[in-house]
Amino acid sequence: MIIVGNWKMFRGPDPHALAGLDAIVCPPFTRLRDCVDAGLTTYAQNVHWDKEGTYTGEISPPMLLELGVTGSLVGHSERRQYFGESDETVGLRTRGALEAGLHVVACVGETIEERRGGKTDAVLRRQLSVLEPHPNLVLAYEPVWAIGTGHTATPEIAQEAHAFIKSLLDAPVLYGGSVKPENAEALLSRPDVDGALVGGASLDVDSFTAICQTAARIRS
Ligand code: PEP
Repeated sequence: MIIVGNWKMFRGPDPHALAGLDAIVCPPFTRLRDCVDAGLTTYAQNVHWDKEGTYTGEISPPMLLELGVTGSLVGHSERRQYFGESDETVGLRTRGALEAGLHVVACVGETIEERRGGKTDAVLRRQLSVLEPHPNLVLAYEPVWAIGTGHTATPEIAQEAHAFIKSLLDAPVLYGGSVKPENAEALLSRPDVDGALVGGASLDVDSFTAICQTAARIRS
């Protein structure tokens, strides 16, 4: 069971308050060092595919590794929606990061229009087409309509999507989308839900700790 906290563009909690938690944190770039120094497994929220170059605003795999960061999110829907991230660049970022020795959590998921239009499977198939199995690759199914909205996918919807994703690519699949202490147990109990990618609730130490404890209970 893998629990990942995505702090997005929030400063986030004191990393020392999370010491000892079996979880991965993805703070903003300016807090990566604090999290590494506090002994947390720390991933970036994005990563470029090249070692260095004329790419203002980007950060490379060796730069992250040098800091003690061991992985990165790639293709989060907020990158796809607001910053022009394409399937092609998600593939490049994922491959570059994995080849450099980072772990990757690659995010996929459909919008509400795509779900209502019966296009969920086609969208997931297209998003996954740029990815290949790798021992350090984890996927996150994050229906865009459930991210930061309070509208969680039902455990049945999550299970169905996860099983479909695994039929296309052999990797652990995390669920993301308004995961909270109250719904974590039902979601994490589904057989193909291998963990959670937690946004808003990861900013609150008590909520994030409760989700991690639920995951640990289910695993044992
Ligand atoms: C996320 O940031 O990946 C996410 C799922 O956010 P939230 O938990 O706030 O919906």
